[in-house]
Amino acid sequence: MLGKNPVRPQELSDGQSLWIQSVFYTLQGEGPFIGKPALFVRLAGCNLKCFWCDTDFESSTWHPTLDELFERIESERPQHCKLVVITGGEPFRQNIAPLVERLLAMKLSVQIETNGTLWVELPEHKDLHIVCSPKSSFIHERLLPRITTFKYVLESDGISSDDGLPNRSTQKCDTETTIARPPAGSDIYVMPLDAGEEKQNEANRRICVDVAMRFGYRMTLQSHKLLNID
Ligand code: SF4
Repeated sequence: MLGKNPVRPQELSDGQSLWIQSVFYTLQGEGPFIGKPALFVRLAGCNLKCFWCDTDFESSTWHPTLDELFERIESERPQHCKLVVITGGEPFRQNIAPLVERLLAMKLSVQIETNGTLWVELPEHKDLHIVCSPKSSFIHERLLPRITTFKYVLESDGISSDDGLPNRSTQKCDTETTIARPPAGSDIYVMPLDAGEEKQNEANRRICVDVAMRFGYRMTLQSHKLLNID
């Protein structure tokens, strides 16, 4: 979307119908479940607009009921695939609680990918994993204790020398800002920003290696981009 998407506020319904961008089966390309086959449910709309975001989460007109959505999920998900990734856009913009509860009841692992600014009350569950990639100075206070992993996308400049994490706004190009930091002891992943240009990408990879080694973070590449899969 490259920062061109409309900013959409949180719109909570009873969660029995959701605005869905897409449902697809692939490999998880980044973060703690990298390389695992996963069924992705991409929710439409986002409450932020990051200038480098290249994800399409606005073009769908599909508003399935929960039953219709599960019909699609189960037609796309092979039986051996036990991981469902709920992503966006920003998934907490909509009431995903009924969706999550139903997936957990099916004994599936659920990973939610969020920018950290919104929250919907969810059950505590060993198979629910919330991965936050902060894009602003704010993390919702109810979400914060539920985050299992933090993820940061790094560029070669705009990195704090104190902790190796980004100090550059994701909302306005070339603007310094404070991006929310994880609490001490958090599980932290760093990955290079895809700048669309090899020289810059190489510099972005180098800074991730350096930062991971200096501060004890885990580095992953955005392998789905290298593999050219969704
Ligand atoms: S928060 Fe995520 S989905 Fe939303 S615009 Fe930023 S990168 Fe894209």
